[in-house]
Amino acid sequence: MFENLNLSLKPPGRETSHFLGKDFLIIAGPCSIESEEQIFEAAALVARAGGDMLRGGAFKPRTSPYSFQGLGLPGLKLLKEAGDAYGLPTITEVMDTRDLEAVERSADIIQIGARNMQNFALLKEAGKIRKPVLLKRGLCATLEEWLCSAEYILSGGNSRVILCERGIRSFDTYLRNSFDIGGISALKELTGLPVIADPSHACGRKTLITPLSMSAVMGGCDGIMIEMHPHPEAALSDAGQALTPGELKIAIHKIRQTVSFRNTL
Ligand code: PEP
Ligand code: MN
Repeated sequence: MFENLNLSLKPPGRETSHFLGKDFLIIAGPCSIESEEQIFEAAALVARAGGDMLRGGAFKPRTSPYSFQGLGLPGLKLLKEAGDAYGLPTITEVMDTRDLEAVERSADIIQIGARNMQNFALLKEAGKIRKPVLLKRGLCATLEEWLCSAEYILSGGNSRVILCERGIRSFDTYLRNSFDIGGISALKELTGLPVIADPSHACGRKTLITPLSMSAVMGGCDGIMIEMHPHPEAALSDAGQALTPGELKIAIHKIRQTVSFRNTL
C-alpha cells in the first residue's frame, strides 16, 4: 500500500508556511456566505471567540439543485472584506477550474471539498497555484485514494497541501458521517502534511462538535474547522450543525485547553 506515492508525502518535517504561522489553526465561520450583514457579523464573532481564520462558502456543492447554491463571485468579495475588517485570513471552496483564479485572488487558503476530492482536472490546476490547498477527504475515500489526490497537487508543484478529515460515509444514520480519528493519527505517521479535523460535517450535530474536536486534538490533528452562524436557526445550509456564537466561544476555549494539555505530554 502507498507504494505508488512519491517522496513528497513522506515525513519528517515539511515546511509549515502554509499554516499561516500558526502552531494550531482554528478556522470557524458559516457554511455559506449569505449576505454582507451575515458574514460581517460572523467575522466579528469568530474574532471575538479567538478563532484564527474565517471560513464561508461562496460556491456550494449541494445535493439538491433546488437548495441554496451560494452567492458565487459576490460572496467571495464579501468574505474577503469581512476577513480584512476583522484581521482574519480566509478560506473558501472552489468547485470549478473556471473559478480558481478568482478564488485564489480573494482567499488565503483554497478548499477542495469532499465531492471534488477526485476531480482530477481541478487537482491538476490546484498544483499550479501558490496558495495553500485544503483537500477534504472524499465521501467514501480510503486513505490511499485521498493521498493519491494530494499527490496530484504536490506533484504539480504546489507543496502547500493541508488534509482535512470530515468524516466518511458508513451504515449509521444517526450521525451524518463517521469521524475517522484513527485516520488522522495514521496520516500523521504516514505523511508530513498538516491535518485539520472538521467535526461539523463529520457528525452533523452541534452538541457533538466539542467532544469530537477534543478527541481529534488528542489524535494528533494540527487544526480544527468548525461551522458557526450568528443565527443558526436562519442558516441557509447546514443549520443543524452550526454553533451559536456562545457555543463557539466555549468550543474554542476547550480546544485550546486540550492543545495545551497535549503539549505537556
Ligand atoms: C464545506 O466545508 O462547506 C463542505 C461542503 O464540506 P464537505 O466538502 O466536507 O462536505
Ligand atoms: Mn457545511
